[in-house]
Amino acid sequence: MSLKQIGEFGFIKKISRGCLIRPDNIVKAIGDDAAAFQTDPEQLTLMTTDLLVERIHFLCGTISGFDLGHKALAVNLSDIAAMGGTAREAFVSIAIPDNCQLDYLDGIYDGIKNLAAEFDVNVLGGDTTRSKIDLIINIVVQGIVAEAELLCRDAARPADVIFSTGFLGDSKAGLHLILNQIPADTEGLKSLLTAHRVPQPHLREGRFLARQTGVHAAIDTSDGLSSDLGHIAEESRVGARLYADEIPISQNLKDFCARFNFDPVDYALSGGEDYTLLCTVSPDRAAEIANAFEQKFRRPLFAVGEITEGKKITLVYPDGRTKPITPTGWDHFKVEKNE
Ligand SMILES: [Mg+2]
Repeated sequence: MSLKQIGEFGFIKKISRGCLIRPDNIVKAIGDDAAAFQTDPEQLTLMTTDLLVERIHFLCGTISGFDLGHKALAVNLSDIAAMGGTAREAFVSIAIPDNCQLDYLDGIYDGIKNLAAEFDVNVLGGDTTRSKIDLIINIVVQGIVAEAELLCRDAARPADVIFSTGFLGDSKAGLHLILNQIPADTEGLKSLLTAHRVPQPHLREGRFLARQTGVHAAIDTSDGLSSDLGHIAEESRVGARLYADEIPISQNLKDFCARFNFDPVDYALSGGEDYTLLCTVSPDRAAEIANAFEQKFRRPLFAVGEITEGKKITLVYPDGRTKPITPTGWDHFKVEKNE
């Protein structure tokens, strides 16, 4: 059996065995957006880490140091957001190739510190080393959440309404522009590039959702709607129904898809790195929570479908046609990626 055959998630499952030596006080180990464990009777500690590797996740020539630093921290903050937590401390490790300019490195740390300041996060340490070829950045973020407010992937229930805290697919469109060297010649295309390069972690949205009764499961959209909803479905042992015409697609993505001849729903389903939150909410609380969200954030909480019994995820078109959805989002070991 090769790595390509088992894929990223098969690999994670395999290496997870035997990791838990002291299970006491561990609320969530490997398998959610962050680990959660009890260090204090009042609250849980959350820990998450993400690795960004040049030529796998980014190309130095297509992203500024500042934006790269922002993104490296944002993806970690997004995982804390998905658990309903508040981010507190960060550790930044970096492996630097000889040809990397000091200005670029300064930019990376400026981007990290700028976002850290926005969300009240300390940078407390890390490691620095030389790299033979590629620039590699690893960030660890610690956060906190009250146990009663912890949001996990395995808590979705049949009939729950599925929501997204923002538009889906914009980041993938930005990536398409970068990989195909298409100039961003309109404000709309520029916004798609920004969505890809400078994602905003939904920490405030995550805290809002965590405080509401009736919010059951949550995850951030890092791998794509189909894959990320697939993780909730698998962990919660449920299925889901998505409505094609309810999936939140920005006007910018609609314009992009019309111009380059793509299906926006496919983009939203398969595009990763949007870093919105997907959550599932008890149907009797859904309208009230959506209204309160809109009042607070001045934008909608988008209902995209509902959780069902069984295991299948189905896409329903406005004319009633249905299509089974299989996860088409990102898997590091199954697909070749250039950026
Ligand atoms: Mg995540």
